[in-house]
Amino acid sequence: MASLTVRQMELGPLANFVYLLSDENTKEAIVVDPGWDVAAIKKAADELQLRIKGIFLTHNHFDHINGVGDVLRFADAPVYIHQQDAPELNKDLQSSIRQLRGGEKVALGGLTLEFLHTPGHTEGSLCLKVNERLLTGDTLFIRGCGRVDLPSSDPEKMYQSLRRIAGLDSSTIVLPGHNYGPAPSGSLGDECLQNPFLKFALGAPLDEFLRTVSG
Ligand SMILES: [Zn+2]
Ligand SMILES: [Zn+2]
Repeated sequence: MASLTVRQMELGPLANFVYLLSDENTKEAIVVDPGWDVAAIKKAADELQLRIKGIFLTHNHFDHINGVGDVLRFADAPVYIHQQDAPELNKDLQSSIRQLRGGEKVALGGLTLEFLHTPGHTEGSLCLKVNERLLTGDTLFIRGCGRVDLPSSDPEKMYQSLRRIAGLDSSTIVLPGHNYGPAPSGSLGDECLQNPFLKFALGAPLDEFLRTVSG
């Protein structure tokens, strides 16, 4: 039986969460949204004796990707990102990119990583589901959600993405892209009750949601 290990690290001036996800048995790992302090990420991976088999980017914003080049210096690994967020990555990273559309499943040791396309914060925002964990990037924070007023944002798509996430099992643990809430993680069931954006997306019609998030 594969067993999942999650190492959550808060790094950088914007309280970004970087994650190491691994199969405890095979020590195969992926790093999610590597940024700010790649030495700290490498140290954690070495302590856990992990082999980095992939890099996953929830979206293309600078604070989530600024360490990708440095990780590739010590790990020969594909960089998974949604096809709509991929073009903005640096040219020197393009040969490492594996473009996703959402819906793919990728094996990591005995674990299955599942990618969900959840646009809204950016066109190509993805969530990553593994066992009962959901890494939500800047789509969903504990008690918050990502900005929808940025160049490739779309409030209507955020509404649909939040509703889609809310339909997952309520015992799912949300692991967000920033430490912006009262806790570093929480259950989806609690968020459906206490996250004002998720509650609103579930309870209000689209036009009311749009008026509120854009007002
Ligand atoms: Zn972002
Ligand atoms: Zn961010």
